[in-house]
Amino acid sequence: MNRDVVIVGGGVMGAATACFLARDHGIAATVMERDTSYARASSSLSASSIRQQFSQPVNIALSQASLAFLRRVGDELAVDGEAPHIGLTEPGYLYLASEAGAPLLRSNQQVQQTAGADTRLLDPAALRQQWPWLAVQDLALGSWGASGEGWFDGPALHQAFRRKAIARGARFLAAEAVQLATAGGRVTAVATAEGRRFQADAFVLAAGAWSAPLAAQLGCALPVSPKKRDVFVLDCPQALPGCPLVIDPSGVWFRPEGRGFLAGAPPRDGDPDEPPLHAIDHGLFEEHLWPVLAARVPAFEALRVRSAWAGYYEMNHFDHNGLAGPLPGYVNAYTACGFSGHGMQQAPAVGQALAALIAGTGGAVLQPLFPARIAENRPLWEANVI
Ligand SMILES: Cc1cc2nc3c(=O)[nH]c(=O)nc-3n(C[C@H](O)[C@H](O)[C@H](O)COP(=O)(O)OP(=O)(O)OC[C@H]3O[C@@H](n4cnc5c(N)ncnc54)[C@H](O)[C@@H]3O)c2cc1C
Repeated sequence: MNRDVVIVGGGVMGAATACFLARDHGIAATVMERDTSYARASSSLSASSIRQQFSQPVNIALSQASLAFLRRVGDELAVDGEAPHIGLTEPGYLYLASEAGAPLLRSNQQVQQTAGADTRLLDPAALRQQWPWLAVQDLALGSWGASGEGWFDGPALHQAFRRKAIARGARFLAAEAVQLATAGGRVTAVATAEGRRFQADAFVLAAGAWSAPLAAQLGCALPVSPKKRDVFVLDCPQALPGCPLVIDPSGVWFRPEGRGFLAGAPPRDGDPDEPPLHAIDHGLFEEHLWPVLAARVPAFEALRVRSAWAGYYEMNHFDHNGLAGPLPGYVNAYTACGFSGHGMQQAPAVGQALAALIAGTGGAVLQPLFPARIAENRPLWEANVI
């Protein structure tokens, strides 16, 4: 039995794994976190939305399992009778397509329906009827998750995992992991920047966008790096009744948040690694996002940018999917990283499955996401990356 489990990274992936190890398997892990303010962690800066509209069955399965967990999160993560509140709301995602994009929406919907997702295809007239504020003249098709998709308070979920893990015996340490000791295909210890050394029966790399340098110490090349994503907070004088999370054919997305809206743009090829987070690209908003938003929703002509923030996607350049499971060449080393913009929603299912894998009681659902696919050059491309 793995008793001394060391997890590097206390974001939502590390916290969820620690929580399920402790709660479901009685294993009290040590979680090392170098910045206990989590100021630059993806888990603090997420848009925290959840969908079933993926192109890969494993992503649909993980998001479905996570959704079921989020719906009963108050019972799952209560501590001393105090239930967390994450404000889950389910207005759906609406993917829009021109003629060129319609075949992909159709084939994705087949995959999603086979997996039990409630995804419905709508022609322009049906789109206009359901959301009269939407401009549809250039559209051929929309794909809407009528149930099981929406958004929630991601930082609240992160804290709830952390709190539950601690209540069940996990230790969260303010420490930066700098060196991994190995022997005979095992990670044996983790050394910190202050020179402390922690013995490891099992080791979990959950350092988000910064996982690659530590994996490299184990001879594993993880193609993950920090890519900045800007999120703009908008005010619009007009309400948009029933507004889901809308993805324009250009990739620009928006959704309601409180009395306003959030909006952003998809990753671009050639974005630099880890630019400063304070350098918000307001030019991107003026020149690209606003024209797209105002063409799609004429009421957005009158919008105002209230504020903006940026965070890093832990971008997996190999195939834009999570890397979760054993690290090749080691019998006791695992990772959960590289979720490329869909890690918040999958943390409940991934954390639970990874804990089962470490405890030796399950976790087979993660098999398609095992990092072994990189060295074997078997990409699992996710077509729907936002
Ligand atoms: C703008 C934005 C929007 C997003 N929108 C969504 C969305 O709508 N839906 C969704 O599902 N996901 C979304 N995501 C992605 C999601 O937030 C991430 O996938 C998820 O939070 C990743 O969690 P993590 O624990 O792997 O990484 P993190 O939260 O980054 O945690 C990793 C932690 O490891 C620590 N660390 C790093 N190196 C070391 C070390 N050597 N020693 C100790 N600690 C270390 C870091 O300090 C950090 O706290 C979004 C992300 C961003 C940035």
